[in-house]
Amino acid sequence: MFEVVIGLEVHVQLNTKTKLFCSCPTSFNHKQNTNTCPTCLALPGALPVFNKEVLHKSIMFGTAVDATINRISYFDRKSYFYPDSPSAYQITQLYTPVVEHGKLTVDFEDGTTKSIRINRAHIEADAGKNIHDGDISKVDLNRAGTPLLEIVSEPDMRSADEAILYLKKLHSIIRYLDIGDANMQEGSFRVDVNVSIRPKGDEKLYTRVEIKNINSFKFIQKAIELEVARQSEAWEDGVYEQEIVQETRLFDQTKQETRSMRGKEEAADYRYFPEPDLLKVVVTDEMMEKYTKIPELPDEKKERFVSEYGMNEYNAVVITSSVELANFFETMMDEEGVSAKTATTLLTVELQGRLKGELNITNSPVDAKKLGFLAKRVDDKTISGKAAKEVLDHLMENDEDVDAVIEKLGLKQVSDTGAIEAMCDEIINANPEKVEQYKGGKDKLFGFFVGQVMKASKGSANPQAVNEILKTKLG
Ligand code: ADP
Ligand code: MG
Ligand code: ZN
Repeated sequence: MFEVVIGLEVHVQLNTKTKLFCSCPTSFNHKQNTNTCPTCLALPGALPVFNKEVLHKSIMFGTAVDATINRISYFDRKSYFYPDSPSAYQITQLYTPVVEHGKLTVDFEDGTTKSIRINRAHIEADAGKNIHDGDISKVDLNRAGTPLLEIVSEPDMRSADEAILYLKKLHSIIRYLDIGDANMQEGSFRVDVNVSIRPKGDEKLYTRVEIKNINSFKFIQKAIELEVARQSEAWEDGVYEQEIVQETRLFDQTKQETRSMRGKEEAADYRYFPEPDLLKVVVTDEMMEKYTKIPELPDEKKERFVSEYGMNEYNAVVITSSVELANFFETMMDEEGVSAKTATTLLTVELQGRLKGELNITNSPVDAKKLGFLAKRVDDKTISGKAAKEVLDHLMENDEDVDAVIEKLGLKQVSDTGAIEAMCDEIINANPEKVEQYKGGKDKLFGFFVGQVMKASKGSANPQAVNEILKTKLG
């Protein structure tokens, strides 16, 4: 049987204010070709000046993945001609990248983990954009010269699922560090997937195919599955050597296939050489001191949620997978008397279940403080868990106060034992035969009494109190 071998290259756009080698803004959504200057337009004589903020963010990333941070690294020139690159070369780091030899842990659903090695992360400049419009193509150079961190894994992943777990973890780390917005649709987290197969037990690497520019986790999963199927079929049909060649392929989501885009360039095609216009990149002691102090990352946060809140591993992984979700949860827990269990359910099941379409955790109509207060009202037994769903439905549509909504919808739970006792007495007195039958051994009737009391209270009685009181009264 075959083993799948996957290595991933991810281009992360760093969220610096200005470009890598000039002071043009990096912001999107400006009129085409306005965020440009002689440097990023590659006009003759214009020289690049390195933006230190890029280095700071790279150090943070290297720290997060336990990598070596090279105190000295260099820029190199990679030559290629394409209309969206006015200089006809890209400035990148080939021979000595800023970050090397890191690792990242992925979590499987059964609680086991695997460490994936990161070969390197290097700084490079992005190209502009070609916009194809019918018969004509236009070039927008606003993005030209935007800083990228290219993160290259070792070929350590053995399935599409593992690749997705790696990508999601990497994505989450970028967001936790706040070094990029990592928006896949907008192209600020771009993935190239390298896939090969080999007979199980074989140590050597076989021919890999690179699939480029797939802009969602779902499509990446699909592209890998299709490519693995294509390669294993070729092997089984005895045409592996002829059909599987090192090349760049494209994933076509409508046709559900990968197809050849171009032959894979060899390093020699790029005529790499050290960039003559830039100095070596030096990481100073001060930078090391400052930028290796990074925020709490998903793995640590997960451990803390388990120990501090007694949360199970699974919920802890889910909540810490996104920094926004984790922060939302912690704000809920700031409300006094809220249990992690209630907060987790209200957040991951109830609120997230209601965030559809344009809505997500960052623009939720019910914010963390409000949901935390709702959780408190469940935990202090003012309302039942069921009533909380009704309150939440109302809050999704109306910006109102939690207690006011509870009042308005008449959802306050009666926990006053005097009132519940009176209702229980009433039901018992009204059903003498049922009481006889129950006392005669028909245990199932207990549910009938609970149901009647709940009905009499219009659902507002605290069910736990009803159960306890009925139990004593019926003996
Ligand atoms: P390039 O920069 O030319 O694309 P690299 O050697 O830097 O080539 O490798 C790029 C990616 O391909 C890395 O993530 C690496 O792990 C992966 N890779 C290399 N060989 C294989 C292979 N046989 N199967 C799957 N992935 C591979
Ligand atoms: Mg590549
Ligand atoms: Zn510029």
